[in-house]
Amino acid sequence: MTNNSAHKGHLYIISGPSGVGKSSLLKRLLANHSNLRFSVSTTTRQPRVGEQDGIDYNFVTQEQFLSDIDKDLFLEWAVVHDNYYGTSKTQIQTMTDSGLDVILDIDVQGSQNLMKKNIGGIYIFIAPPSIDELRKRLNGRGTDSADVIATRLKNAEKEMSFMDKYPNIVINDDLEEAYKKLENIIYGGGIK
Ligand code: ADP
Ligand code: 5GP
Repeated sequence: MTNNSAHKGHLYIISGPSGVGKSSLLKRLLANHSNLRFSVSTTTRQPRVGEQDGIDYNFVTQEQFLSDIDKDLFLEWAVVHDNYYGTSKTQIQTMTDSGLDVILDIDVQGSQNLMKKNIGGIYIFIAPPSIDELRKRLNGRGTDSADVIATRLKNAEKEMSFMDKYPNIVINDDLEEAYKKLENIIYGGGIK
């Protein structure tokens, strides 16, 4: 699809446990596809080293987030790993109205909320080859404390139980293979 305001952009909704490789896959997808944009979520989580406000997330206080909920600014929001995360309605609307495709990296609760609201899009779950490998990736990333990693691993098991609700599943074992599969789902006609 070209960036033409006569056509509405598509939504691609990606979920999967923390550390599975969503950001790694999406960064590459965004670099290779000029009509694709990232939905910058709002969160109360603290920025990690290297994360930029307005690019990775809009980082806000809990007070601000609760006020945004009251103003009905979110298409969906959820509490994930003890922090609030939400998708801005206007951001998505502005981008899709101008013909841009938008990719959302949101948790399983957020995806379920969008499915229940009948928000049309391509829903994709990224799964790890094993929980052991997930633990290795979270430790290897080196961005989170042992406590934070423990919470994320505990939540991973529950998140994995949502996998069968997704029409598209990509197992991120070998990064190259997973990227090809994801790209094929989105651009190669492998969409469900
Ligand atoms: P998420 O966004 O899902 O939390 P990241 O993209 O931050 O996950 O990846 C977590 C860590 O795992 C990073 O250090 C990343 O480089 C690494 N990683 C991602 N995909 C793979 C893979 N297929 N094999 C090995 N390591 C990977
Ligand atoms: P992280 O803190 O690792 O960046 O993200 C933690 C989790 O929050 C991931 O599962 C990610 O998909 C999810 N997440 C990020 N933004 C949103 C959002 O706007 N809404 C929801 N529901 N989840 C989000």
